[in-house]
Parts: sequence; C-alpha cells; structure tokens
Amino acid sequence: MRVVLLGAPGAGKGTQAARIADRFGLAHVATGDIFRANIQARTELGRAAQDYIDSGELVPDDVVIAMMLERLGEPDAAGGFVLDGFPRSLSQARALDHRLAELGTPLDAAINLEVAEEELLRRLLARGRSDDTEATVRNRLRVFATTTKPLLEYYGEAGLLFSVSAMGSIDEVVERILGAPAHVSHKQPSDAWAVLAPPSH
Ligand code: AMP
Repeated sequence: MRVVLLGAPGAGKGTQAARIADRFGLAHVATGDIFRANIQARTELGRAAQDYIDSGELVPDDVVIAMMLERLGEPDAAGGFVLDGFPRSLSQARALDHRLAELGTPLDAAINLEVAEEELLRRLLARGRSDDTEATVRNRLRVFATTTKPLLEYYGEAGLLFSVSAMGSIDEVVERILGAPAHVSHKQPSDAWAVLAPPSH
C-alpha cells in the first residue's frame, strides 16, 4: 500500500501517518521529521533547509525531491509507505509519480485530512514547535493555500483522492481513514487496507 496524506499544517498528518504505518507495517516517511533530524545533526541538508523552515516557506523543490526519491529507494519503503508532508507542490507530485511509474508501483490513494481553519491555528499554536510562532504559522497556512492545495485537484483527477474530516478524536479520524482505500479504488473489497497490506500485528 502506497499512500500520501494531504492536509494543512496542523491537520494531524503526522499522528495519523504514524498510526496507519504502524498498523499495516508500512514505512512512515515524514519530510519535516527528516529535515528536523538533519538540522539537529548539523548536516549540509539541515543547513540548506533551516531558514525556509523557520520562516514557514517551502524548502526548494529540487532539494526536497532529491531527498525524497533517495528515501523512497531505501529497503523499508519497498513494502509500502505512508508519505507525510510530501508532496507539497505540483512539481513534487509529478516527480513522485514519475519515479513510482518507473518502478511500476503507483500510489494507491491520496487521503486528505480536512480541518476548519480556526482549529488549525489553535492546534498549531498549542503545539510549541520552534516553527509554530504566530507569524510562521500564518505563513505556512498561506503557502499551503497557494502551493499545496492544487494537489487536491491533481489527485482528484487521477481518481486517487479521498477526503475525510479530521475533526474529533484521533481514533475517530483513524477509523475514517481506514475506510478510504475501499472508496478510492473500486477494485478493492471493503477491507482494502488489509488486502493490500496485511496487518503486521
Ligand atoms: P512539517 O513537519 O511537515 O510541518 O514540515 C515543516 C517544514 O519543513 C515546512 O514548513 C517546510 O518548511 C519544510 N517542508 C516539509 N515538507 C516539505 C516539502 N514537501 N516541500 C518543501 N518543504 C517542506
């Protein structure tokens, strides 16, 4: 199973991606986490990404795409993955599609987590990450609206998009997400996740 989680900053992509990945034994690949690990380890990639992250801008496409294509080539990703925070622009989505087409392993679904804007602001400001200051948060929401939102149409046209409300408890949202693949791909029976990726425990 290869899934992309979409949604604004604060929609809960990280929490949900971790749950889904754990449940089905998929690799959880979180772009922001990779950047933060690199910043902490003071790598060149970390230095290249830091100013963008601090200001709430996107790290340039060429940097992100190179990093993610390499990450998706690692062995754990061969058994399926949940992408959290990538793609965030049309060029990133096209680069991802292109690579997956070369490998003959296309995406199965793009799941969009929907949260009302006031709730996003409330969640982000309560989280306390170093890029969660009010100015940066507002910029991240603006960048999402202009650059990342067009992906909804892109995956909608590809017949892969499934939107779920991400309001409510974590467990409620997990249940909604588990219903997604069956809706997205008519080729799968109701328990599509289990068919595509047998539970690891
Ligand atoms: P996140 O942890 O997903 O909220 O990402 C934190 C920050 O990392 C974002 O605000 C961006 O600056 C950067 N970032 C994460 N993913 C991407 C991406 N796919 N493209 C560009 N920048 C990204």
